[in-house]
Amino acid sequence: MKILPLAFDSIGTRSMATFVETKDVKIFIDPGVSLAPIRYGLPPHAIELKRMEEHWNKIVKLASESDILITSHYHFDHFDPNENLEIYENKTVLIKHPREKINFSQKGRSAYFLEQIKGLPKKLEYCDGREFEFGKTKIKFSQPVFHGTNPKLGWVTEVLIDDGSYKFIHTSDVEGPSQKDQTDFILENRPNLVFCDGPLSYMLGFRYSYESLNASVENMIKIINSCPLDAFVVDHHFLRDLRWKEKIAKVFEVADKKKIKILTAAEFLGKPIEMLEARRKELYKKYPEMKAVTKRKITEE
Ligand SMILES: [Zn+2]
Ligand SMILES: [Zn+2]
Repeated sequence: MKILPLAFDSIGTRSMATFVETKDVKIFIDPGVSLAPIRYGLPPHAIELKRMEEHWNKIVKLASESDILITSHYHFDHFDPNENLEIYENKTVLIKHPREKINFSQKGRSAYFLEQIKGLPKKLEYCDGREFEFGKTKIKFSQPVFHGTNPKLGWVTEVLIDDGSYKFIHTSDVEGPSQKDQTDFILENRPNLVFCDGPLSYMLGFRYSYESLNASVENMIKIINSCPLDAFVVDHHFLRDLRWKEKIAKVFEVADKKKIKILTAAEFLGKPIEMLEARRKELYKKYPEMKAVTKRKITEE
């Protein structure tokens, strides 16, 4: 199985866009990318805007070549209902249920999205809790789980891709995992590799509690202790915190003993970590004059 993270926070944009290729099919999980509209009181720096354009171009290219497109939920860093809709043409599209277990804002967006892509996909299925087979490749979705620690931001579907000899799980935005059902999907399926968005620790103490961080650490340790992992990749929300590593020091300790690697998507790719959003203040200091434009809409979530 070939697994390629295309846009992630550790490589400079808000996203968990991932391309997966098995012997049977090419799959794209969450073709979307965004930036923080405001961080430290500052709008995105030109370097971030340029990076987002690069990432979007790569997403469009590989999503176009894919057979299956997956949308785990309707936040703009995970899908785009306006640009390059041709990527949906003739595809099997597996989406989070647009009307059930969904919050108000995402319900409006999913209806708009379905109107926008009407007639394009070859096949469109709601994926919540379901399993699909393509040759020897199985794609299995979790029941909807919280986007984080409560239903305020809605629900997401986690996804397992199993080609018969290797199992990969993409958790989408679980912000942890701090919840039992979010964790159980991973424990029950015993993956070899996990891409997890990690705790929302840059909001620790206001939008994310210490209890949730502790629960996430305990759950990550459970996963590391019981799954046959090559690596556990943490990224997305977690890589907006410059001090992310120390927040999960206990996880690193356990993983070290078991010789399991804890990586970011950047490291998984063999690239340096570039936390552009978390370093936005420095970017403005270093390159105050740089300018860039984007036609992509940048909004929170
Ligand atoms: Zn989200
Ligand atoms: Zn997200």
